[in-house]
Amino acid sequence: MTQDKIVNAKDDAQIRIAAKILSEGGVVAFPTETVYGLGADVFNEKAVCKIFEIKKRPSFDPLIVHVSDPAEASLLWTDIPPLASQLIRYFWPGPLTLVLPKKAAVPDVVTSGLPTVAVRMPRNDAALKLIRYLGHPIAAPSANLFGYTSPTTAQAVFEDLGEGVEMILDDGPVPVGLESTVLKIEGTLCRLLRPGGVSLEEIEKWAPVVSTDSPPAGVYESPGLLRSHYAPWTAFTLFEGSSEELLKELKQLEETLKEKELPLPRIGLLSFFEKPKSSFFEAVEVLSAKKDLVEAASNLFQAIRKLDKMHLDLIVALKTPREGIGFAIMDRLEKASSGKKGFQDFLENWKR
Ligand code: AMP
Ligand code: MG
Repeated sequence: MTQDKIVNAKDDAQIRIAAKILSEGGVVAFPTETVYGLGADVFNEKAVCKIFEIKKRPSFDPLIVHVSDPAEASLLWTDIPPLASQLIRYFWPGPLTLVLPKKAAVPDVVTSGLPTVAVRMPRNDAALKLIRYLGHPIAAPSANLFGYTSPTTAQAVFEDLGEGVEMILDDGPVPVGLESTVLKIEGTLCRLLRPGGVSLEEIEKWAPVVSTDSPPAGVYESPGLLRSHYAPWTAFTLFEGSSEELLKELKQLEETLKEKELPLPRIGLLSFFEKPKSSFFEAVEVLSAKKDLVEAASNLFQAIRKLDKMHLDLIVALKTPREGIGFAIMDRLEKASSGKKGFQDFLENWKR
């Protein structure tokens, strides 16, 4: 497998080739400000089906449709209520996705049969040109294998989907690093379906937001609410305490293991800002030494991928504050660790 599928997103001729691939029913990966996307012509059902195949994405998980201009949303939505228009004015282009009733022209495969469609306008020149050159909006989820950590570089797309995808437009590391915030507009209310690149505090300057906690079992409204997602292959756990408390627990573990003459697990630490001086960690990834949540978000997925490649026994993540984009970071950390053994369970079962 060669890397010549990765082409420069600043080269207009390459974007035109990518648009041609899309117009012929193909699929290409492209940059956005949030994460890299895997796109197909929204009105070409067969092409959209390829996205699900390549990503191994279950057909019940609907796609976000990307437009190059707010006016294009009227090709997709039956109606644009005043609240949606207002949010569009303030946040587009940008990492805010709005969900509203769909027009019949939007194929059911795009929305997984839902009567609504999710739409946003990305803030990336190559993405906007790609949509314009194609002449149709582009349906695109993140360009990774379903359930795995999202791709924030072209190389990460290549590692996950290199074989399945015809072309990857490379625009370097993305600036936001987390997926878009998804809001469902219901009359004069917005309901949060997924926290993301635009913080709740920012949205609430313009409209009240109703947060949805995890839905009751069996109720399935939005896959962004799936309990386990964004997860690396390595055991991953979110440590609830401070870094001092973590070191204390590891010290105790070391003593117990010494008595039993057992080796320590190889642990990687995903830390918000601290770099604890400790021999317990095989590797430490610091998200933002200056405690900047926006910088931390942009580094998050790449840091997880880096640790995941090290064949560690466990990745332990420390918490970030739950404010601004930190709310979305914690959402991703919780989902990446969910469905896996907690820290204590891991330690108790280690080399038993
Ligand atoms: P991805 O593009 O992979 O980041 O995921 C898109 C996410 O947007 C989905 O997982 C859903 O959470 C959400 N979404 C897309 N379309 C809809 C819709 N019609 N209704 C509710 N949520 C949606
Ligand atoms: Mg995704």
